[in-house]
Amino acid sequence: MDKQTDFVLRTLEERDVRFVRLWFTDVLGFLKSVAIAPAELEGALSEGIGFDGSAIQGFARVYESDMVAHPDPSTFQLLPWRGNPGGTARMFCDIGLPDGSPSFADPRHVLKRAMRKAADMGFTYYVHPEIEFYLFKQPIIPGEVPTPVDRSGYFDHTTATAGTDFRRSAISMLEQMGISVEFSHHEGGPGQQEIDLRYADALSMADNIMTFRVVVKEVAVMQNLFASFMPKPLADQPGSGMHSHVSLFEGDTNAFYDASGEYNLSTIGRQFVAGLLHHASEISAVLNPWVNSYKRLAGGGEAPNYICWGQNNRSAMVRVPMFKPNKSSSARIELRTVDSAVNPYLAYALILTAGLSGIENEMVLPDPAEDDVWSLTDRQREALGIKPLPNSLDAAVRAMETSQLVADTLGEHVFDFVLRNKRAEYAEYMRQVTPLELGKLLPSL
Ligand code: GLU
Ligand code: MG
Ligand code: MG
Repeated sequence: MDKQTDFVLRTLEERDVRFVRLWFTDVLGFLKSVAIAPAELEGALSEGIGFDGSAIQGFARVYESDMVAHPDPSTFQLLPWRGNPGGTARMFCDIGLPDGSPSFADPRHVLKRAMRKAADMGFTYYVHPEIEFYLFKQPIIPGEVPTPVDRSGYFDHTTATAGTDFRRSAISMLEQMGISVEFSHHEGGPGQQEIDLRYADALSMADNIMTFRVVVKEVAVMQNLFASFMPKPLADQPGSGMHSHVSLFEGDTNAFYDASGEYNLSTIGRQFVAGLLHHASEISAVLNPWVNSYKRLAGGGEAPNYICWGQNNRSAMVRVPMFKPNKSSSARIELRTVDSAVNPYLAYALILTAGLSGIENEMVLPDPAEDDVWSLTDRQREALGIKPLPNSLDAAVRAMETSQLVADTLGEHVFDFVLRNKRAEYAEYMRQVTPLELGKLLPSL
């Protein structure tokens, strides 16, 4: 028995854990969970737990539906809101097929495969997200505009309001689960919050983001609130982004840092950004995966909708934050397109392979956009070579359809599933006749 398994089994006893939840993520980014009795865990760790993959979004066709969840002992954590002793623990799973091979449909596997490619090129891949979300009052009535918990704005210091209390509890729970938080503050919209996680390797971070969503939703319910990661829940307020800071390391050295480079960004860093810009449209349907995502991108509120980069330019899709001169390890780039409702495994896999393709093909970075690109005219942007991102899920799907990079990164099965699912989502949306059309057109046509 390896050390980690031994630790897990001992903790089950010592903390008198009553349930172990096995977690995994479907292709659309929803968390799935099956609870097992602690006595079953030793068997689950050695052989996995069988389940019907055809019932999970994107996992399998009905005729090849048997799948096996293999809990990863390094992800064992107690769920603080379940209390302990006598509580519940969780572990993330890798999904396999009955013959022991990894499932081609498992988002965790997609990310691991992309990270292996980076490792073959000598890189480890780190990310940290700034996760934005809204806190609303209960009850939430499907189809009706929700009510934010407060009327505060960006960085507002609110005394003992729902938001401050909420952030305290959520952060302390995240820390108890081994997820370090760097910053937190009130965001621009009423009731909108942001919590920034401390950097980690991309696989741990994708797991952390899935956990984060559960913790935030649980704490909200405990406070009789509702937390939402929907990209654009309120028409006239900013959307919720998940800006992601990315870096590559070669051993202990930050491969994005070069003291003599412009903005201290190395050639590798520049090529990585060039790859992101080059593939931005193709990866958009995964980084902004919902019809609603495009309302965030089009709606201002500091969400980017042009393919460009700049230093400290918040209208740019990629921003190069200023690094502390004596802290080369913090060299990184910030990708601002990603929204809070992505499948983090698939999104982080594609960000990585898009960047790596820039390095492999020695792509040349265009000049930075130093202007506020929103205030330029279409003509000025054209003259600068700045193209828009896809402006709808439909446009994003069309850009993805022909992408070799996305097909290779996701694998054929996930690639086809995402395309089919997103086409269907868009078609359903287009079948709607909205209150706006009825209100504006019916009276006059
Ligand atoms: N809420 C904005 C977005 O959707 C970002 C605001 C900020 O710069 O943090 O991306
Ligand atoms: Mg923010
Ligand atoms: Mg940011």
